[in-house]
Amino acid sequence: MAAVDGDYNHDKTPEIFDAMSMFLSKLKERPIHVKSPFWNMTKTEMIEWYINQGHNKEWLKMSYSCFTGNKYQCGRCSSCLRRWVGMYNNGIIEEYEEDPITWERIPEYIKRMQARTGKHDSVGRRREFLLAMEKAKKV
Ligand SMILES: [Zn+2]
Repeated sequence: MAAVDGDYNHDKTPEIFDAMSMFLSKLKERPIHVKSPFWNMTKTEMIEWYINQGHNKEWLKMSYSCFTGNKYQCGRCSSCLRRWVGMYNNGIIEEYEEDPITWERIPEYIKRMQARTGKHDSVGRRREFLLAMEKAKKV
């Protein structure tokens, strides 16, 4: 599983991973451990780690993150934005239906991240978001 720093979905917590481990171990009658090696990494750091391992960037681009489920990633949902931040911070440019950096909600995200008011925004998540905004000359 690939839960990262700043994930707050109910299906991506250490407690749920422990529960899944117990369930799968019972079901398969052998020890199965569900865990994420990326709990302490942001998406930016995870992508950097992937690249530094010598893995193919094109394979990374074949992954899919968009909440819409459409053929092409929308560039207008929070998942596309987080993906764009991680990729952009690592110099990977991708195509979206709409360029995420032009999303009308970007100023709202910047304000929230700078004010540290987002209840689910970790230090790492804020840092990677603001780094991407600096690189894109939005702040
Ligand atoms: Zn999307």
